[in-house]
Amino acid sequence: MEMKIKEAPMCPHCGTKMTKTLPPPFNFGDGLGWCVEYFYICFNDECKLYENGWDHLKKNYGKTASYRCMIYPDNGVVDSVCVLSPDAFKGQIVEE
Ligand SMILES: [Zn+2]
Repeated sequence: MEMKIKEAPMCPHCGTKMTKTLPPPFNFGDGLGWCVEYFYICFNDECKLYENGWDHLKKNYGKTASYRCMIYPDNGVVDSVCVLSPDAFKGQIVEE
């Protein structure tokens, strides 16, 4: 597959360089699967999306969880992934 994004992009929320990460073997979302071999995630704990996500999910859904910004490398689409802890996805990081 031709990748639109070939180098780690900057997070659109905080400007931090994002980290190449493998998807987990399961999906928190709609069960359609990830459809990519890897994606880029912003692991900045001061990222606004991540910081605000805890409050947002607590207030709206009563959940202890947040989001991290992610970008699909094949089409450059910016999305977010649900994380249940600050260390979520860190075991999936690909060192380049
Ligand atoms: Zn960020």
